[in-house]
Amino acid sequence: MQSKQTTSATKTRLVDAALELVWPTRCAGCERPGELLCDTCRDSLSLTEQDAACPHCGAPYGFLICTECYDRTGKQEFSFALAISALTLDEISGRLIVLYKDNNEHRLASILAELIISALPLSWLTWADTLTWIPADRKALRRRGFDHMQRIALEVANLTQLSATSLLNKQVCRDQRGLNRAQRKENLKKSFSLKAQAGSLPAHILLLDDVFTTGSTLDAAAALLSESGAAEVRAVSIARAW
Ligand SMILES: [Zn+2]
Ligand SMILES: [Zn+2]
Repeated sequence: MQSKQTTSATKTRLVDAALELVWPTRCAGCERPGELLCDTCRDSLSLTEQDAACPHCGAPYGFLICTECYDRTGKQEFSFALAISALTLDEISGRLIVLYKDNNEHRLASILAELIISALPLSWLTWADTLTWIPADRKALRRRGFDHMQRIALEVANLTQLSATSLLNKQVCRDQRGLNRAQRKENLKKSFSLKAQAGSLPAHILLLDDVFTTGSTLDAAAALLSESGAAEVRAVSIARAW
């Protein structure tokens, strides 16, 4: 067994070395050859200032007044209790995410996982019973060949000692055109279902996604998890569209 593992590790290294000759590693931000993310690009990442962000939805600079997470009646808009985004979506963070999920640069998973972990307060890590993710639907899975948030969730779990649990299925969402706000919300929620083997849900769930745009995807999944028995869901995204 040991020698089999060693052989396969050697093989992987050889393949990596060969690939490196043909397609040298380039920085995801600036394309300079050498590293997956060079120091200059790493320093220019727009990390969310968590002290200044909205404590509910994680919107950058929303600490005092957030215009994102309450509807016009003052009711809290989202089904997740709290949310955090590691980065603000901009050119570099956008490139990191696209290269990772659509251009086969799977090695970025560990960098993205580290960014998520560095944004998570210690209190969230101790609070969470498990982490789960917004799964890829069938169409996306076929296109990409992998579930990009699952891989990141497994990396985060590996680095934090949290467990990662596959709890959700996602169907291709029915066309949202012509639907009003409430119908869109319901429609999106219907695109999620619980995994048959999910059983009784853990009380405290961290829910991961790549980009928080309007929050509606995370909201729909969090609504289902809460209705299915989770006491509290907190949302974590790599980047916040802003
Ligand atoms: Zn760079
Ligand atoms: Zn907010």
